[in-house]
Amino acid sequence: MTPAWRFFPVTVSAVRRLSPSFIRVTFAGDCLTSFADNGYDQRIKLCLPVPVHEFDFLPTDEDWWSRWRSLPDEHRNPIRTYTASAVRADLGEVDVDMVLHGDGGPASRWALVAAPGDALVLIGPNAAHAGDHGGLEFRPPPGARLLIAGDETAAPAVAAILARLPRTTRGDVVLEIPSRDDALLPLSAPDGMRVTWVCRDGGHDYGSRLVAAVRHVVAGHRTPVPAGVRAAVDELEPDGDIWEVPEDGAAGDRYAWLAGESAAITTLRRHLVKELGWDRKSVAFMGYWRNGRAES
Ligand SMILES: Cc1cc2nc3c(=O)[nH]c(=O)nc-3n(C[C@H](O)[C@H](O)[C@H](O)COP(=O)(O)OP(=O)(O)OC[C@H]3O[C@@H](n4cnc5c(N)ncnc54)[C@H](O)[C@@H]3O)c2cc1C
Repeated sequence: MTPAWRFFPVTVSAVRRLSPSFIRVTFAGDCLTSFADNGYDQRIKLCLPVPVHEFDFLPTDEDWWSRWRSLPDEHRNPIRTYTASAVRADLGEVDVDMVLHGDGGPASRWALVAAPGDALVLIGPNAAHAGDHGGLEFRPPPGARLLIAGDETAAPAVAAILARLPRTTRGDVVLEIPSRDDALLPLSAPDGMRVTWVCRDGGHDYGSRLVAAVRHVVAGHRTPVPAGVRAAVDELEPDGDIWEVPEDGAAGDRYAWLAGESAAITTLRRHLVKELGWDRKSVAFMGYWRNGRAES
């Protein structure tokens, strides 16, 4: 069977500075005519070059993952998770919006100096696969009132989600960004989606302004916590990966999609489910990165 995901060897065709903290990298390649355009929060992987060998040792067959894991450090390409911001399969192009967070990680380090002609390998959804590609977590029940909240790493996914929402959708968007000027990121939100930007401006911890703003936004929707729920939710609190999305699809008339720094997202989820009594099946929460820890 044709695999749902495949490797796409690409080159950078353009790099555009969107705001102080963001660049938009356009990748090009004939193979991208087979990149599925699923929109929303479609996650993809960027395989980054290693010095000297570039991609010489990157396995791309069916069994690639275990072979990649066992490569020595100097041959193993770092792989990081990103969002497909835009797909123009007819032109063989994919855009990825990348946060510049310094030179502490291979992806951000690569982005700081990215230039047309640079080679990279994407792992993304294969249009030749007829079924579900996976990698999409935004699955609200039809007609639900939405709460979409995230930090700058989630901003590309939020922008892509907003662009595809039915224009009658209602709800709130809260985005925490590093600086005021990052609010220049273009969003195409339905009129019924109220967008709130909050900035750290160098003086706030990651996620602190996001948590405060979401608390404020949902304050009007408070419902009492039913007896017994608090204890049940305590037992279900994940202690490993900060990632839980409703398995069989969400139900009900409200739905939250939360993504960003893991500690902040855990706090937000706890606030909605434990303190405000939201059904946990109405809350998708995703730790996109963890402060002080590299993606492994
Ligand atoms: C599903 C999904 C979609 C994502 N989409 C995007 C996207 O479209 N655009 C995007 O920019 N990011 C996105 N991210 C986040 C991105 O994968 C992480 O930020 C990743 O850690 C960056 O890799 P790196 O090599 O730069 O840093 P790593 O090597 O992973 O980490 C090195 C150090 O940098 C810190 N760090 C990582 N990210 C940040 C940050 N943003 N700010 C400050 N410190 C950081 C880590 O805590 C660690 O201490 C997404 C993550 C997921 C799971």
